[in-house]
Amino acid sequence: MDTASTNDTLAPVGGHVSRAPRALATEAVHAGRDDLARQGLHAPPIDLSTTYPSYDSRAEAARVDAFAADGADPAGPPVYGRLGNPTVARFEAALARLEGTGAAVAFASGMAALTAVLLARAAAGLRHVVAVRPLYGCSDHLLDAGLLGTQVTWTDPAGITDALRPDTGLVLVESPANPTLAELDLRAVAHACGTVPLLADNTFATPVLQRPAELGARLVLHSATKYLGGHGDVLGGVVACDEEFAGQLRKIRFATGGVLHPLAGYLLLRGLATLPVRVRAASATAAELAHRLTGDPRVARVHYPRLGGAMIAFEVYDDPHEVISRVRLITPAVSLGSVDTLIQHPASISHRVVDEEDRRGAGVSDRLLRLSVGLEDTDDLWADLDRALGVL
Ligand SMILES: *Cc1c(COP(=O)(O)O)cnc(C)c1O
Repeated sequence: MDTASTNDTLAPVGGHVSRAPRALATEAVHAGRDDLARQGLHAPPIDLSTTYPSYDSRAEAARVDAFAADGADPAGPPVYGRLGNPTVARFEAALARLEGTGAAVAFASGMAALTAVLLARAAAGLRHVVAVRPLYGCSDHLLDAGLLGTQVTWTDPAGITDALRPDTGLVLVESPANPTLAELDLRAVAHACGTVPLLADNTFATPVLQRPAELGARLVLHSATKYLGGHGDVLGGVVACDEEFAGQLRKIRFATGGVLHPLAGYLLLRGLATLPVRVRAASATAAELAHRLTGDPRVARVHYPRLGGAMIAFEVYDDPHEVISRVRLITPAVSLGSVDTLIQHPASISHRVVDEEDRRGAGVSDRLLRLSVGLEDTDDLWADLDRALGVL
């Protein structure tokens, strides 16, 4: 599995390099802010405008036409909040640089982002999706229930090529996957997809640990609600991809309205600045907790990715509901990627919407607990886990 170290320099995959590539830690702090000093600003401005004045409606018409053609960001001043927002655009530019793609398009949530991708493919007549379980519960549900008129073929990585059809518009995978942390060889998966776009949900790894576009994924999706925001106070989603696909996504976003609020765009941009530091610190703690859990007789099995990261899944012998009820420092809550540590029972919450048999088939056992490790002290977290695990 390819990983990105602190010293790796970033360059857009197949894109244009506008200046000397900078390291991820530098981009995390500076990307999307290049113009600020020139404007005499330090913090990025928040533009809450829903609409923008223009005395030249002919020029406005030309810009709307240009947008309708290929979804490219209209030149000149913004037109309307659903078409684009300058604060959100800063977050998009920054995330694209971190993922090494030509563009990124932000949405109201991770599910709104996935919806836009599926609608963009369906609009091209490509309604069939090939997907590998496990996926985040709602992503599984969205595909399996056919809510958007898509058809899904579930397969394992080795079966992807055989599952492709002439109307296959997308291959969808997560690695490490929610909630089992199962890892895929993304490069091999991308190869198996041939010309069909691969979407890799990179919510768990973040660009700090893995940049799927460098491994061949055309689309990289994030629930920005998780690590990108990082503080449990903003919902958002984003797709990093090439400019051509980004244009299609902007058109879908304009037509269906799943836009990211500018305040959320501001918070997500702010979150990116500390992303590398947060992910590395939480990962170090998670690695130590995974080690302690592995040696514990109350724990049946521990899942911790080779890639590293701040998520741990583990199976307990005790009733998992009892374990959840006993935490005090750790917050018993769904979601992940926050500064504080969260624990939840996937079979009850995050993956409840997945059919029971499919859920178990994907390795999500009823004894599995998912821990999102935050920035607290390792020993304090262990003391809480130790108590919560109960007596043997
Ligand atoms: C949470 C999550 C999503 C959905 O994102 P929302 O922001 O909650 O809509 C998608 N994929 C993964 C892996 C997630 O963890």
